[in-house]
Amino acid sequence: MSDAAYDLVIIGGNSAGLSVAVALQQAGLQRVRILEAGSAIAFPELVSEHQLDVGYGEPALAVDVDADGVVAVRTARHTYTARVCVVAQRAGAEDWKPTMTTVASDRILINKLPDFAADEDVLVIGHTDRAVELTARLAAAGAGVVLAAGGMDPKLLSPTAEAALHRLERERHATLLYRAVPDQIADVDGYPMAFFGDRRTPDLQFDHVVFAPSRTAVTPAEVGLTDAAAASGSVFFLEGADIAAIARAFPEITLTPPPTLAERRRGFTSVIDELRSEHYNATITHFEPTHSDLWVLRVRPDHGDVTHLPGQYASLGLGYWEARIDAAEDDDLDGKWDKMVRRSYSISSRMWDDHGYLTGDLDADELEFYIVLVPPTPDNVPGLTPRLACKRPGDRIYLGPKVAGRYTLGPVTDPSNTLLFFSTGTGEAPHNAMIVELLRKAHHGPIISAVSVRKWADLGYIEQHRALEARYPNYHYLPMPTREPDVPKQYLQDLIANDVLQARFGIELDPAHTHMFMCGNPAMIGLPEDVEGVLHYPEVTGVVQLLAERGFTLDHRKTRGNIHFEEYW
Ligand SMILES: Cc1cc2nc3c(=O)[nH]c(=O)nc-3n(C[C@H](O)[C@H](O)[C@H](O)COP(=O)(O)OP(=O)(O)OC[C@H]3O[C@@H](n4cnc5c(N)ncnc54)[C@H](O)[C@@H]3O)c2cc1C
Repeated sequence: MSDAAYDLVIIGGNSAGLSVAVALQQAGLQRVRILEAGSAIAFPELVSEHQLDVGYGEPALAVDVDADGVVAVRTARHTYTARVCVVAQRAGAEDWKPTMTTVASDRILINKLPDFAADEDVLVIGHTDRAVELTARLAAAGAGVVLAAGGMDPKLLSPTAEAALHRLERERHATLLYRAVPDQIADVDGYPMAFFGDRRTPDLQFDHVVFAPSRTAVTPAEVGLTDAAAASGSVFFLEGADIAAIARAFPEITLTPPPTLAERRRGFTSVIDELRSEHYNATITHFEPTHSDLWVLRVRPDHGDVTHLPGQYASLGLGYWEARIDAAEDDDLDGKWDKMVRRSYSISSRMWDDHGYLTGDLDADELEFYIVLVPPTPDNVPGLTPRLACKRPGDRIYLGPKVAGRYTLGPVTDPSNTLLFFSTGTGEAPHNAMIVELLRKAHHGPIISAVSVRKWADLGYIEQHRALEARYPNYHYLPMPTREPDVPKQYLQDLIANDVLQARFGIELDPAHTHMFMCGNPAMIGLPEDVEGVLHYPEVTGVVQLLAERGFTLDHRKTRGNIHFEEYW
């Protein structure tokens, strides 16, 4: 331990300096002194909250280091010795000019407050610590403050500024327009009027407008830094060093890991509310877990109808700002935090209504989906399903306005045809809707729905299918769990290769009278690749190859066939 009187001396009682003091004291650092040139620190309430030791009216005049590496910070009153010094002080903002058009008026101020703020309406414009500091001081002085923080991002704020902003927002001491910034300040009847370019924010008139300049680094000369002190490695300028880097200078303390940027952003509830109301257009009305990772959900759009053909899909979306159920981190979350992640989902069916009739839910006011949680892998961080996993009935969501898809019953024109539906996992969703439609329309040819899943528990619709089988003798449901000890492992391909359908149900695979519908895992389907007119099938044999060997043909956009498919990835 050096013989310095302090562990840490911080020059500047602004948000950045206070953040270092609070974080390091919480981590166990004992002797921390803050030197503030003015008569108040940025957030005075922190003094008692965190027992801060502050010297007011003490600008640093010189920062030196002695032969033992002890830092000496000289003020007009005293010389403080410390193991480490942090310079949080900002440069003055004399040369700073706002980029937007403004009128010249003594009601428009740069980096300072009006003389009398009580009961005045003040607009603060800026998105850095300084903007929050000015807002907090105005609010404390009794002003009605609006902070136009267009582009504010927590990563530009130090922790104490961020906490102060949350407090101001929570206690309704300031109105925060996170994403709005005026593009012009004009003079209307002697008062500044702010014109906002976006449709969401009305133009507003104020008593004063205060511009908060962007962050500016103080120069070493402004705090009287000697060359020896600069070379010592014990003086940190906050522009270039973060709290973790400063904490590493004190091996005896352990910093609590700071919240991730995503967690910090979620703390700004009004931004999240704003983003949700801007992007979401539907409500989750039903969210029924088959088990923790597999859900049946229903979504009702605010406007518009949900007309669709059985087998089609819609798109669902949530913002990257939503919480994830897993601990994975999205690639480049910073860049896309306020964007949407959208995915396609086949429209399923509730199959039975409350009175025991098959649903005619094609023109209902909500859509049903059957969705599985996709876990993260080393190669892929799934975007949507881990966010969907945190949702519950009543929550808002994005539902694409257009339902689409060619995977429908269009090709089935003969009610006596044999119809086979093969799916993996949630690939049974469109089949549920198609099968209900067929049975409602009195299809009398055999209908088989075979589903490959891992466990019995992965069958979200088994009861509905068993009820269908009981009522319609031409319908058979064939769940095929591959990881149940009491069930021999069998894949969908085996049903064709080993003529299981003929043996169990007497069904001939006659291409002239049969349609095959397949949905889900592309490996089960096994589409061939067309290389200059020659078809190359995948190494693992899929159902398409087995059917092609029996005279079936693929249904393509140009050539119609009797093998219809929907790949999920
Ligand atoms: C037309 C169409 C309809 C679809 N309908 C459904 C549906 O009804 N239900 C549904 O759960 N998914 C469906 N999907 C898949 C869905 O669009 C998403 O890809 C899936 O929910 C994963 O999204 P994510 O953002 O969480 O993961 P992403 O980052 O998109 O991860 C994609 C990866 O997840 C895996 N994956 C994707 N879907 C599944 C799945 N269903 N089961 C197991 N692993 C999967 C694959 O390895 C894929 O490479 C459909 C896809 C298409 C193209």
